[in-house]
Amino acid sequence: MAVHRTRLLILGSGPAGLSAAIYGARAGLEPIVVQGMQPGGQLTTTTDVENYPGFREVIQGPWLMEEMQAQAEAVGTRLLWDQVVDVDLSQRPFRLTGDGGDAYVGDTLVIATGAQARWLGLDSEEAMKGKGVSACATCDGFFYRGKKVVVIGGGNTAVEEALYLTNHSPDVTLIHRRDSLRAERILQERLFANPRIRTLWNKRIERFVGGGEPAGLVGLDVVDTVTGAPSHVPTDGAFVAIGHLPATELFRGKLTLDEDNYIEVEPGTARTSVPGVFACGDVMDKVYRQAITAAGTGCMAALDAERFLAHEASRVPEPAAEVEEQERERSIAAW
Ligand code: FAD
Ligand code: NAP
Repeated sequence: MAVHRTRLLILGSGPAGLSAAIYGARAGLEPIVVQGMQPGGQLTTTTDVENYPGFREVIQGPWLMEEMQAQAEAVGTRLLWDQVVDVDLSQRPFRLTGDGGDAYVGDTLVIATGAQARWLGLDSEEAMKGKGVSACATCDGFFYRGKKVVVIGGGNTAVEEALYLTNHSPDVTLIHRRDSLRAERILQERLFANPRIRTLWNKRIERFVGGGEPAGLVGLDVVDTVTGAPSHVPTDGAFVAIGHLPATELFRGKLTLDEDNYIEVEPGTARTSVPGVFACGDVMDKVYRQAITAAGTGCMAALDAERFLAHEASRVPEPAAEVEEQERERSIAAW
């Protein structure tokens, strides 16, 4: 089995991991990125991206990620394909083990494994993803200007998404499975005060209904969880906002995670609870979850790693002094 050794090991190849790689490579750290099952990350699963700065025309998510990969390689990053199945953070250098047994050894580690939206798990939902069903209002809300939209969920994310969507749509419906929200009170107050939003309580989604030309979402079949009565909610767009799952399974018990299993970092830095391990992007951010914020925190992680190594190097005794010290210890032992 091969052993891949680097000063800066990066786990994940979305905007966070690749931005960390670009900064790390330009700092001379010769990073290795282990890409995982989704090279390029979540943006490779979407089409139009209109909010990543620097492009006046609409760009495509997969294209943007190819460009980031090419840029990372051009400045000296090694991109390796593997899925990491085990991590040892108990001592430095840190050691990660890939699916096929390869070892990835890093003096520092940047974790950029992202998060995945939770979905309802309906076949019709899967079929309509990208055709009217989305899990990101900030990303896709703009495409529903002047149209009817629904948001599914009752937490902070759902309420924030509903409020955000009123910037584009005059007709927003929040659909929740119970008759009360778990979102913070202040958000609830804003939601209930907004004339563009109505709320449907106690509704379970049965089916996302497609139709029309070109084929897109036309509505939702729902069932009342109290009365059992079925009904249909016409809509052009549905935003599923029932939570996210950060990819932190590998780190449970090895790093401090918060109550929702996101990696905790020291505020204003990418530093985790283990010195030399840094986290960036959606795996540590449950609020913003954007490509640009992932890229920004990726930059922070690489700069923090570089400073960590520089600080450590400044504390290592000069080789001559080290030899002198060993000589002294040897002569004391002989005596
Ligand atoms: P991710 O992009 O999730 O990348 C995670 C990486 O970690 C992947 O490469 C994966 O393979 C790797 N990985 C995970 N586990 C392992 C493992 N065990 N071993 C090795 N590798 C591993 N944001 C915008 O700003 N604008 C948009 O228009 C937009 N549209 C979106 C549309 C969709 C459909 C989705 C799902 C998201 C969208 N987003 C958008 C959000 C954006 O994609 C994310 O915020 C961003 O990708 C997060 O970047 P990341 O690098 O933190 O993680
Ligand atoms: P969340 O708090 O877990 O809420 C998920 C919501 O989805 C709940 O209302 C839940 O219903 C509903 N839900 C879950 N599974 C469902 C299913 N299968 N069918 C229908 N509905 C389902 O998730 P979140 O809103 O994404 O928030 C996650 C964390 O991030 C929270 O800690 C939140 O406070 C934080 N956050 C903070 C901010 C902020 O501070 N501004 C913004 C966003 C998120 P029930 O209520 O019935 O369980």
